[in-house]
Amino acid sequence: MENEVHLQSRSRLQDYEPIVGRSCLEELRMLAGGLSGKIVQNISSTFVGGGVAEILEHMVPLLNQLGVDARWNVIHGSEEFFEVTKRFHNALHGKKERILTEDFALFSEVTQQNLDELRFYGDILFAHDPQPVALIAKKKEIGRKWVWRCHIDVSNPNKKVWEFLRGFVVDYDAAVFSAPNFAQQLPIRQFLISPSIDPLSDKNRELDAETINSVSTKYGLTSDKPMIVQISRFDRLKDPLGVIEAFEMVKKSIDCQLVLAGGTATDDPESEEVFEEVRERAEGNSDIHVLLVPPDSDLEINALQRAATVVLQKSLKEGFGLTISEALWKAKPVVATAVGGIPLQVRNKFTGLLCYTVEGAAYALRQLLSNPEYANRLGQNGKEHVRQNFLITNHLKDYLLMFLSLGQPSDVIYL
Ligand code: UDP
Repeated sequence: MENEVHLQSRSRLQDYEPIVGRSCLEELRMLAGGLSGKIVQNISSTFVGGGVAEILEHMVPLLNQLGVDARWNVIHGSEEFFEVTKRFHNALHGKKERILTEDFALFSEVTQQNLDELRFYGDILFAHDPQPVALIAKKKEIGRKWVWRCHIDVSNPNKKVWEFLRGFVVDYDAAVFSAPNFAQQLPIRQFLISPSIDPLSDKNRELDAETINSVSTKYGLTSDKPMIVQISRFDRLKDPLGVIEAFEMVKKSIDCQLVLAGGTATDDPESEEVFEEVRERAEGNSDIHVLLVPPDSDLEINALQRAATVVLQKSLKEGFGLTISEALWKAKPVVATAVGGIPLQVRNKFTGLLCYTVEGAAYALRQLLSNPEYANRLGQNGKEHVRQNFLITNHLKDYLLMFLSLGQPSDVIYL
């Protein structure tokens, strides 16, 4: 498989002006000018599925339009390697996992293969998440600036896994975390940068009612009942079974339907098993729609989010939870658990409702379903909150400032 992706954005930079204003774009152009002649090489573990791919797919072409030579490569790994890194992922999120000495050995072996195979051409090498973290070994040979971005909630990580990864992270020039409470004790610079959504992508752009209806019809959804929607990879940390439980509680007093839609990711071998579990649990209840959507279904996801009466995100752990900003940008009322980066997006009772348990989720869902005016107000506030904080233009600015700062001594950085 080709390990470099060539992306072309359908949106032009100037198309963002009506959303974020001219001065924002001028600032981006000015900052980008400082990186002229430099290559930013992103390295992750998959081109499709999950938040990292979602961000890079839109970020890389926009950086290119700003004149920054940004590129994106993925590492290669066997299914066993991705099973190990999925367990690392869960363990870093604080989930109980059995991690064996052989797992670390396999991780190192696959890293070595990628060190041999991958071309390291960037002036700035930007590794995303744990899978490529150990490629930092190359720094001894080639130098350059290296940044590691962690998209996981590492506020309470499994110590064994974090210590192993930390041994690589300390050799980077900088680390990026998504929320203040994920920051770690590290001898290198740390940046706190929120992820973002692209308001003009197929996932988020405005859709006409006809498109929304045709997607609803395709999936057998009815417009006569309020619709609760959770969009997520089929992952236990997204608590799909908890979603069904909460829905069943709501259903006792409000006739509604549930959509649990998601796909699988090539770096997540667990997802098929979880999908089957969820499908079995939902069997026999015609108001629960468990939808397996293929990777390139951005328009359909957009339509499902827009068709929702309330969007739910009942994650047990969450790095940031892009799906929440996606829903808020569509002015949808959101119920979400207060984990990871979610409270940055959902300000309780202002841009949505936070919950802690299945019962809490059911209570909040009932509150919004039975009070559309309140729900609408939360959604409108949420949209403004996303405009101010979580659009790709904010993210571009943070990245450009960070890249520029890598050439500066650390005592003059005030991001
Ligand atoms: N997503 C998607 N198809 C799916 C499931 C999720 O396109 O079947 C998208 C979702 O809309 C969001 C991203 O993948 O843009 C998931 O990011 P998030 O931060 O919510 O969770 P992650 O998967 O990274 O844990």
